[in-house]
Amino acid sequence: STFQFKNPSLLQTNPFVYGSFHACETDFEVDNPSTGQTIAQVGNTSIALAHDAILCAEKALTSWRNTTAKSRAQILRKWFDLIVDNADDLAFLMTLEQGKPLAEAKGEVVYGASFVEWFAEQTKRIEGSVLESPQLGRELLVLKQGIGVCAAITPWNFPIAMITRKVAPALAAGCTVVVKPAEQTPLSALALAELARQAGFPAGVLNVLTGDANRSIEIGKVLCESDVVRKLTFTGSTEVGRILMQQCAPTIKKLSLELGGHAPFIVFEDANLDKAVEGLIASKFRNAGQTCVCTNRIYVHRSVQQAFADKLLAKISKLDVGDGIKTKASIGPMIDEQAVAKVQKHVDDAIEKGATLLHGGKPHALGGRFFEPTLINNADHRMLVAQEETFGPLAAIFPFDTEEQAINHANNTPYGLAAYFYTENSARTFRVARALEYGMVGINVGVFSNEVGPFGGVKQSGLGREGSVWGIEEFLEMKYLCIGTL
Ligand code: ADP
Repeated sequence: STFQFKNPSLLQTNPFVYGSFHACETDFEVDNPSTGQTIAQVGNTSIALAHDAILCAEKALTSWRNTTAKSRAQILRKWFDLIVDNADDLAFLMTLEQGKPLAEAKGEVVYGASFVEWFAEQTKRIEGSVLESPQLGRELLVLKQGIGVCAAITPWNFPIAMITRKVAPALAAGCTVVVKPAEQTPLSALALAELARQAGFPAGVLNVLTGDANRSIEIGKVLCESDVVRKLTFTGSTEVGRILMQQCAPTIKKLSLELGGHAPFIVFEDANLDKAVEGLIASKFRNAGQTCVCTNRIYVHRSVQQAFADKLLAKISKLDVGDGIKTKASIGPMIDEQAVAKVQKHVDDAIEKGATLLHGGKPHALGGRFFEPTLINNADHRMLVAQEETFGPLAAIFPFDTEEQAINHANNTPYGLAAYFYTENSARTFRVARALEYGMVGINVGVFSNEVGPFGGVKQSGLGREGSVWGIEEFLEMKYLCIGTL
């Protein structure tokens, strides 16, 4: 490729601790999911350095939490400006290591930056309370203070946004942070660290520990077991979330968990089908189906099933698959071979159990980790696609007959992250919105996430909310002051 990095300092390959990058004894390979080629060797953080990073974050804490909110806001704002100024470089790097098409990567940089901007503003709005005392001669107050040293473990599907959505509110609250990014996408994380250094965060306030899959597990243990780390914020699978929660039990750590989803997408008989198809394409095929809010089950009223399937098929057959660096592809590769195998397994299982294949269903002719956007009709609850997150480009239509049935099917899962439905009936809008057991509901939209809305799930999809005015509360503790006769 002829792409030239405007800012080559973003190409960092070693863990970032106490304000500088540290070469490691061993490295691990990061590859490009579109080509399978190695793009970088990245430092495999030693356990000793992981312990050091926690101590550095602790050392930096006192002075960081004693800065004014206004000065924290200024540094965060500088970081935001730098991320935006370097959006092209960051997007290119992200597509290289993650595979999503460049336009989508650029979109993520802007989305990721929006959390830094938002929490730069929210820093200044941390507010305590003065309470009415039930006794005379006492003043009762509540202070809000940063929790302390925080750990963040992040996934590969949003290499920048999942870091900024955690780190920005933590830093805004006066916490210091140790981040362990996903082994597949450390380069985006290190580029963010370099921009944080340029923005002027003091040494130790933000630290980034890179590691391969095995080292990630070991570093995870160190972070969870540490007495110094007061809070863990994690985005990833429910399975790993459960392990981390257990590991955090002995130290009673505060937790924020953004875990798996299994999003239903309900198309009622009174929906605008063209809008529903458009929303479905965005919700299902964004990031090749690899987001925790991607639709997994499309429930369509039987009276519009055929019409909806026809319209959807027409759109899906026009989707372009390819290397997001070289082409204008709208769908990139899957992250790895296991991800490809899982989609294939869900497709094969559905067809074996009687679903109809309308499009795709197999690896793409490009080979490697590319999979055809796939549409199946007449899926039912016995199929794997009805039971677990596919995390890939498989759209499965399940017919239903009544609103009650649709709601019951939608809620019949241990997950509760995102749900979607399409209707033009306002009474139904509120009835269904209230009945869905989900943390987020998109109504007549296929994409809803932004810095203003509280992002998070119920049931086994997690704990806590990110973004919004509530996101910073996750990093603040209340302190009650009771002051006797002054
Ligand atoms: P995904 O299915 O999206 O890859 P994972 O939950 O496996 O999600 O991974 C999300 C993050 O959790 C990554 O940073 C990964 O390195 C880390 N991780 C995976 N397994 C463990 C573990 N046992 N302990 C600590 N971190 C882990």
